[in-house]
Amino acid sequence: MSNPVIQAVRGMNDIIPPDTHLWRHVERVFRNIAHGYGYQEIRFPIVEKTELFKRTIGEDTEIVEKEMYTFDDKQDASLTLRPEGTAGCVRAAIEHGHLYRQVQKLWYCGPFFRRERPQKGRYRQFHQCGAEVFGLAGPDIDAELILFTARVLNKLGLKKDVTLQLNSLGSKESRAAYRKELVRYFTKHKSALDEDSVRRLADNPLRILDSKNPDLKDLIAKAPTLLDHLDNDSKTHFRRLREYLDYTGLNYEVNTHLVRGLDYYTRTVFEWVTSKLGAQGTVCAGGRYDGLIEQLGGKDTPALGFAMGLERVVLLMQQQGQDSSGTIMHAYFITDGDEAFQVALRLTDKLRDQVAGIRIILHCGGGNLSNQFKKADKSGAHFAIVLGENELKTHTLTIKPLREKIPQQTIHQMEIAEYLKLRIKEIMGKKVK
Ligand code: ATP
Ligand code: MG
Repeated sequence: MSNPVIQAVRGMNDIIPPDTHLWRHVERVFRNIAHGYGYQEIRFPIVEKTELFKRTIGEDTEIVEKEMYTFDDKQDASLTLRPEGTAGCVRAAIEHGHLYRQVQKLWYCGPFFRRERPQKGRYRQFHQCGAEVFGLAGPDIDAELILFTARVLNKLGLKKDVTLQLNSLGSKESRAAYRKELVRYFTKHKSALDEDSVRRLADNPLRILDSKNPDLKDLIAKAPTLLDHLDNDSKTHFRRLREYLDYTGLNYEVNTHLVRGLDYYTRTVFEWVTSKLGAQGTVCAGGRYDGLIEQLGGKDTPALGFAMGLERVVLLMQQQGQDSSGTIMHAYFITDGDEAFQVALRLTDKLRDQVAGIRIILHCGGGNLSNQFKKADKSGAHFAIVLGENELKTHTLTIKPLREKIPQQTIHQMEIAEYLKLRIKEIMGKKVK
């Protein structure tokens, strides 16, 4: 009887070649741009105490209510797979004393986990690249952070696919006042609300504005807006941010109903959205969370950040036909017989020392020459290096071009390193990957 096949957990995907090339490209672009703005990488654990997420994201949010992967460890402490990055990043910054009288600009990339209904663009393990800034209160950094996100999306060729939405949630106090008014409004129209919204009316009324139910669209459109209830400082902050963005020529839309699904936001919130991924429209989202650090026991420190969903970014790029063309191989080494292989094993090992950045596949697994040539061709390598009986006797190698129409040539084994250096320079000059 054959063994049963074990499949991956639902909603948790393998990222396999050639897609990995596109993924690595996205991560590399993000990292380069982050470093270009003076952000430094932080890595924090995938598992944290459940309490951390409850206290930051909020008990009444969708994430904490139903999306977290939570389990008890042996000491009975409740632990959770991180559903987002801000909480862990803030926890780490406090723990390492990185917030005292200094500005911190940090970035991260990695997997996150939410038990959602898997569909295109929505998975149970997904990946985000994000950044957080601690210690700056003004709209200047809000503007620059948004430019950072725009630069990443532009560089990935997504400029035409996404638009920027912007809103301000005001201070905690102005939000509380607004919340009361919103409850009054929706209570008046309670019979028109759906079940979810009635529940939210009690514990998180702002989230009703975020509802995707088309039947509620009109009611929501007529609801009082947060922007009309901003405190003066938040108003000035928002106006100045808009002026900065206008001045740099970055297009955006003010969406007064943009509230975000996490409780910790204050003032600026923004989302890059697309119409090309169905209901999974948000590609990148972020905002300011001035009260969060204090709420987690740190010193009162203003903060802001964003996270970009890589699955959605990659999907958009693939929809555009951006290809996942693989790593360029320079050479494929073919041998005839075991003695030739042994020489080739030593030769290629030496070449890896001598020729910087060389990408060479040494054929393993035997087989006749014509079979090996087929593999060489399939590998995408630019040329095959052949060590047959003749070459073995004469200490030479035959170089057979696989892509360009140039004659094959035979060189002495001593010359191979110099030869490869030249050829690789030529290849890389034509195509940089
Ligand atoms: P949505 O409204 O689509 O559920 P969200 O508001 O829950 O998104 P955030 O918590 O702001 O998302 O996370 C930031 C980004 O991470 C999202 O804009 C999205 O691109 C991505 N993301 C969030 N959840 C998932 C998921 N389950 N699968 C894939 N990507 C996700
Ligand atoms: Mg969500």
